[in-house]
Amino acid sequence: MINVTKSFVPPSDEYMKYVFAILERGWLTNQGPCVTELEAKLKQYLGTPYLNFVSNGTIALQIAIRAMKILDGEIITTPFSYVATVSSILWERCQPVFVDIETNTFVIDPGKIEAAITPNTKAIMGVHVYGYPCDVQAIDKIAKKHNLPVIYDGAQAFASNYLERSLLSYGEVAICSFHATKLFHTIEGGAVITNNKQDYDNVSLMLRFGHNNDDHFQLGINGKNSEFHAAMGLCVLKYVPEIIANRKAISEEYDRLLAGAVGRPVPPVGLEYNYAYYPVLLENEAALLTVRAALNKKQIFPRRYFYPSLNRLPYLSKTQACPISENVASRVLSLPLYADLPMEAVKLVCDTIKEAIA
Ligand SMILES: *Cc1c(COP(=O)(O)O)cnc(C)c1O
Repeated sequence: MINVTKSFVPPSDEYMKYVFAILERGWLTNQGPCVTELEAKLKQYLGTPYLNFVSNGTIALQIAIRAMKILDGEIITTPFSYVATVSSILWERCQPVFVDIETNTFVIDPGKIEAAITPNTKAIMGVHVYGYPCDVQAIDKIAKKHNLPVIYDGAQAFASNYLERSLLSYGEVAICSFHATKLFHTIEGGAVITNNKQDYDNVSLMLRFGHNNDDHFQLGINGKNSEFHAAMGLCVLKYVPEIIANRKAISEEYDRLLAGAVGRPVPPVGLEYNYAYYPVLLENEAALLTVRAALNKKQIFPRRYFYPSLNRLPYLSKTQACPISENVASRVLSLPLYADLPMEAVKLVCDTIKEAIA
């Protein structure tokens, strides 16, 4: 069976060394040495001075919204993402206002943001979908003009660099997910990346119930992550260059074998890509379903990343049309991509796709 992704598992003796040390210390959670070490290594790796390791990417998004002091109102966002982007906004009792996407990179179209701003707008939340960059410069300009904070959902953007900086370094606050299916993972986990000490201190407090010993400062939540999760991160982080190199080679083999047969996003100049996903565009939804059925028959399971277009979620209070996102969502399929995917499997996937659409 070939799934869309497979978690990277480090050599077990490397992980067990950490586990024995954690058990020996008896310090299992609450900012133990593994969490502290992982935070330091991630800050260094990403070149971002303020980072909190948290329990998942979704809580990271919710904390990010709170860190911007947003308690209600509208948040401008993209309809083309994983559902957690929008569910976090709704969970924080804000309203998502959808702005359609660019046709080349499937990220929010900055040319359409200003028209969506109202007196009720509290923030812009872009998503670096598939690890492709939002137009951070254009968004920054609009945000400054309207005095709005920018939040980036960089759940898929770990190790993607844009204009010589980590994509996670842009915005007032950015988040990442370290879920087991993501390129770099801590089994479950995530990070909140802030750009000043004040926001960092605020996030640090919020994710620990809003108190420090007996002093209670503000409403908080439990966003902490454990020593065991941090230890997995410390093990996986070492292999990130190797993971990316393998994913790049596989992606290039897909490029070669599928040239002309399927559509592909076109990333902008200035991107140093992380090869987190390999999305292809089929002619239409019928072609997608045909291709998927042919692959499934051979025990190959790509995923409809991302479908449905989130402006069509059934629990939204009002309908907003986003024709480009809806069109892309109806015919985009993410092909299997993980560090040890054999090249023969890549060939089988491509042969099956080409046969199915012939
Ligand atoms: C994975 C993902 C999340 C959620 O992260 P979790 O760690 O699974 O909670 C949020 N946004 C996007 C775009 C994602 O891909």
